[in-house]
Amino acid sequence: MTDCDLLVIGGGIHGAGVAQAAAAGGYSVMLLEKSHPAAGTSSRSSKLIHGGLRYLESADFRLVRESLRERELLLRLAPGLVRRQRFYIPVYRDTRRRPWRIRTGLSLYALLAGFGKAVGFKTVPESRWHELDGLRVDGLQAVFRYWDAQTDDARLTTAVLKSAQSLGANCLWPASFVRGSVEAEGCRVAYRDERDEERECLARVVVNAAGPWAAGLARRFRPTLPAPAVENVQGSHLELRRRVQRGCYYMEVPEDRRAVFLIPWREDVALLGTTEHLYRGDPDAVAPLSEEVDYLLRTHRHYFPDCPPEVLTSWAGLRVLPAARGSAFGRSRETLLVTDSDARPRLLTIYGGKLTTYRATAEKILRILRRTLPQQPAVANTAELALSAD
Ligand SMILES: Cc1cc2nc3c(=O)[nH]c(=O)nc-3n(C[C@H](O)[C@H](O)[C@H](O)COP(=O)(O)OP(=O)(O)OC[C@H]3O[C@@H](n4cnc5c(N)ncnc54)[C@H](O)[C@@H]3O)c2cc1C
Repeated sequence: MTDCDLLVIGGGIHGAGVAQAAAAGGYSVMLLEKSHPAAGTSSRSSKLIHGGLRYLESADFRLVRESLRERELLLRLAPGLVRRQRFYIPVYRDTRRRPWRIRTGLSLYALLAGFGKAVGFKTVPESRWHELDGLRVDGLQAVFRYWDAQTDDARLTTAVLKSAQSLGANCLWPASFVRGSVEAEGCRVAYRDERDEERECLARVVVNAAGPWAAGLARRFRPTLPAPAVENVQGSHLELRRRVQRGCYYMEVPEDRRAVFLIPWREDVALLGTTEHLYRGDPDAVAPLSEEVDYLLRTHRHYFPDCPPEVLTSWAGLRVLPAARGSAFGRSRETLLVTDSDARPRLLTIYGGKLTTYRATAEKILRILRRTLPQQPAVANTAELALSAD
């Protein structure tokens, strides 16, 4: 006799999404989060709900299309949490991505989104460049404007978790996974509860959704599984005292041609990020490096020379990316789902992924785990469940 059908480890966006999808699928769900919802990467992202324009450069069309579809869905399901945002791409004489290339990319982006009123792009006439939040006009050749979306990642995660709870998921925090074993009748998991007492739970299936902690947690299962070659790459953001009124700015960094965003955030506060820096330490200890802060401020100065920013605070999150040599910028953002068995999986670990596609990923996971779970009539459809943080 199992204690629940599905046990989720991690209360980030993926854990919350899987708990919601499984509870909607009619399964009994338990979720363990070691500190509080969105304590990890899911409160430290760039907070964009987007297709990922730059993934077109690596021909990740499937990912872009899926992300754009999820963006439209979230705009409908969570209007109080996800809103459309204008994005500006300035092109200077020395910008590597030339106007024709950006035009082609934006046309393809609109095509993948399924042309519509709110997905098109245009160029900003020169007569209006002075309205662009202090953007340098010296050497400027063109400015493109297109639409994507923005959220508050921690509030979105909380909203999805609440939705899971309303469907009956038992979400515990603080509750920390300790170890697990895959057995014939299910997965046995030991965890420490809020009183720091060790408890045990037997679940038919377990989803390890611990983000940058996932690889470490996977090693605490017996028998151990071969792990994919992944690494944690840190990305930092600065919070600037700075009013950015028009929208987000998508800036090509002169020194390495990566993209950095300047994003309106709260009243008189903007976000500037992000960086990519291989991180081998404890995920709990990740923090921005002074060289990352300098890199971001240099970029800001290059594009907005007359707006010296005041840094209010800074923070870093960890991306889980396929291990490879060289820059992390061009590596695949596809989500890796690793199971202990193809035919009858008991344990599934999520590596990587995007905030934007959490729901599609959760549904994919449920389809895989249905090979093990009993047939159950669904009680709801995640594509129709409204999300609210309040
Ligand atoms: C800098 C940066 C910018 C990004 N920007 C974007 C963006 O703009 N748009 C987008 O779509 N995606 C973005 N992403 C990707 C997105 O943020 C992540 O894919 C997503 O947040 C990962 O969520 P997760 O649930 O897998 O992991 P996490 O949010 O890290 O959640 C894992 C959870 O597991 C918990 N945990 C750890 N160990 C245990 C244990 N032993 N027991 C119980 N719980 C445990 C942690 O406390 C944590 O809450 C960005 C990522 C980074 C790093």
